[in-house]
Amino acid sequence: MKIICIGRNYIDHAKELNNPVPDEPIFFMKPDSSIILNNRPFFLPAFSQEVHHEVEIVIKINRLGKSIENQFAHRYFKEIGLGIDFTARDLQRREAAEGKPWEIAKAFDGSAPISRFNTVDHYSDMTDISFRLDINGKTVQKGNTKDMIFSSEDIISYVSRFITLKIGDLIFTGTPAGVGPVAINDHLEGYIGDEKMLDFYVK
Ligand code: ZN
Repeated sequence: MKIICIGRNYIDHAKELNNPVPDEPIFFMKPDSSIILNNRPFFLPAFSQEVHHEVEIVIKINRLGKSIENQFAHRYFKEIGLGIDFTARDLQRREAAEGKPWEIAKAFDGSAPISRFNTVDHYSDMTDISFRLDINGKTVQKGNTKDMIFSSEDIISYVSRFITLKIGDLIFTGTPAGVGPVAINDHLEGYIGDEKMLDFYVK
């Protein structure tokens, strides 16, 4: 399986990093070795001094598809969860400034804690799902899927033009504003609506 992540999919987050708002989805990938399940702790990597949290809605692909038309894209996922796209911001800044790929900043081991998944029929409206991240009891990021620049259907359609989507692939759909660094012993709690989906510590 593979993990596809969408960058700059919320206008307020693109602005906070002084990035232009994209006219097509921007995506990058993480390997399966980035996944952390069951609220196991996230260990800060030694190679970065500035690892940021990015809380994101994650969709799970449930059908094989290539060049999927936007109008059929909703048939390609049935479950959503919550994930953190941990980002070594210092490395990302350096690599981007030199015109290099982002992998070392985004794809490292443990950079993708992921919650359990709920079926989409658990939610009344996929285009109005609120989610948030609390650190040490204080809300640091708050988002709603209605503010996504590109919908899950747009993303599936766009990505599948280039890469075949397979059953079990995961798509991180982008982060809202409020990203910032994490520190050792931070307690992260992520919610979709009022339901706690993530609850883990930084070590
Ligand atoms: Zn992200």
